[in-house]
Amino acid sequence: MTSIAIKLDKINADIRRAEFDVQRPAFSVQLLAVSKNKPAEDIIKAYHAGQRAFGESYLQEALLKQRELSCYQICWHFIGPIQSNKTRQIAEHFSWVHSIDRLKIAKRLSEQRPEKLPPLNICLQVNISNESSKSGFQLDELADSVEQVSKLANLKLRGVMAIPQPVAEYEQQRKPYHLLYQAVKALNRAELDTFSFGMTTDLRAAIAEGSTIVRVGTALFGARN
Ligand SMILES: *Cc1c(COP(=O)(O)O)cnc(C)c1O
Repeated sequence: MTSIAIKLDKINADIRRAEFDVQRPAFSVQLLAVSKNKPAEDIIKAYHAGQRAFGESYLQEALLKQRELSCYQICWHFIGPIQSNKTRQIAEHFSWVHSIDRLKIAKRLSEQRPEKLPPLNICLQVNISNESSKSGFQLDELADSVEQVSKLANLKLRGVMAIPQPVAEYEQQRKPYHLLYQAVKALNRAELDTFSFGMTTDLRAAIAEGSTIVRVGTALFGARN
């Protein structure tokens, strides 16, 4: 078993190489360590190896780990599906939310964000593979949705997140990210500086298409059950 510290080094090196290969500046892509289904001890190992941003998908599991790890300077990102009745705790306990898939959720998060905290950084999840099963805004409603979410006082709209249909081939992996990147750039809004693209198996393709945050679980913490 390779240690988490060694895997973290390797992933960071892979990210630097992917940036270099497409002439992007070093450190223009950040690593979000996806720790869902993994114990707090694994987070601590990655933390001691320098990782600070962690992504969780299940609220109750995340809250338990946050309590256990409250003495660590961790930046918590919520990346999972969001039910309306979970928005208050998400608004209270996270710095970022990547998985906003409808306007109602954005409104609730803004209303419920505590006054004493800075605005919640958010990404709109966009459905770019057009599967009816996957949630997210459609590409053709992106401009309107950005307009409306931008008005919400306690949110800071940063960009978009996508989880395309998994495909093995590099050029095929790039296509949906390319589409979404172009669509966001066409909106011409400087505040949209975040492209939450890429996971363990399509990290290079995502970085080639403008990713600024890659969300990596398996390559860092091993397979989940
Ligand atoms: C689980 C998950 C990941 C991490 O996926 P890996 O393939 O394990 O790297 C990334 N993003 C989201 C939204 C996830 O739910």
